[in-house]
Amino acid sequence: MVYLDYAATSPLLPEVITAMHEAEQKFFANASALHTPGHLAMNKIEETRKLLAQLINANPDEIIFTSGASEANNTVIRTFAGHKIYTSPLEHHSIDEAARVLGGNKKPALYSYMFANNEIGEILSIENIIKKAHKNGDYIHSDLTQVLGKLPINIKALDLDYATFSAHKIGGPVGVGALFIKDGAPFKSLIIGGNQEGKRRGTTYNTAGIIGFGAALKYAIKHKTWDIYDAKIRALRDGLAKRILEEIPGSSLNTDITPGKSLPNILNASFQAAEGESIQLYLDAEGIIVSTGSACASGDIKPSHVLMAKTGDAEVAHSSIRFSFGLDNTEEDVKKVMQVLPGIINRLQKISTIERES
Ligand code: PMP
Repeated sequence: MVYLDYAATSPLLPEVITAMHEAEQKFFANASALHTPGHLAMNKIEETRKLLAQLINANPDEIIFTSGASEANNTVIRTFAGHKIYTSPLEHHSIDEAARVLGGNKKPALYSYMFANNEIGEILSIENIIKKAHKNGDYIHSDLTQVLGKLPINIKALDLDYATFSAHKIGGPVGVGALFIKDGAPFKSLIIGGNQEGKRRGTTYNTAGIIGFGAALKYAIKHKTWDIYDAKIRALRDGLAKRILEEIPGSSLNTDITPGKSLPNILNASFQAAEGESIQLYLDAEGIIVSTGSACASGDIKPSHVLMAKTGDAEVAHSSIRFSFGLDNTEEDVKKVMQVLPGIINRLQKISTIERES
């Protein structure tokens, strides 16, 4: 199998499997308990908190663990329920849907602008938004889910008030995420009724999951994964982009591959007169795993809101495929894609012409 859907989720790193296996055996106790096994579990949780704090340049007590990025995003939006909420047109639905339902007119406002998008990889320039928000006494949140491990992150230098992370995009388990809340920034718990996370989020700690997240963070720090993405993975992505444009008639890129404009591991491309879902299924039959737009939105017949915002063209949006690379991908994978993709597109384009003519 050639797996090119890392932006949707990534397989567990071997280090994560080992750490979680050990956690289930050794650190099963309720981490809030006063007994020794409880303390041992809590110590492991605090280790992960310190690793994340180190990686993003924040203080450990500014981080709470959540069930994932969606919960972290929802928590911030709910904190600003009734307030004016500005979002970018490229946000994940856990931001834009929540903002639509919960936003109001009160001040201070919240700006929620993701640092980089999951569907096309675009890096948004949020520096000016951050300055503008703070100048007006407003607050700024950024969804950094796709950025963790892919680019260096310095929360203090960015001057964010809130930031969202998820473990399963970096080889950690699904169901664990984190929210950075700047010391002193407004905060309302989403899950009330427990003293966990310094009274900021109730429910028993997901110790094994958090330990798994810790192992994935350790891996990222040890291997400086952002450097690998910047060199090896960028070269694979750019190589695939070049070959698609050269070898497939009617192809275009929805990702700007200029350095600094997109995450180095995401490539979104459209193929005129070929439908994204059909391309995906044909590739799947060849053992090549990609996605159409965002996995979360697939099954949804509406064109991706991100591609619509960027292109304004439903046909381009419907004919798009996202290739997202991870650390395990090789030159060989790109070759395998290019052995079958031109033929698949050609076949689909022919069918589409016949359909149009008949
Ligand atoms: N935000 C972004 C930018 C994402 O890519 C995703 C996952 N597709 C999420 C939020 C949701 O993450 P989780 O699965 O951890 O809730």
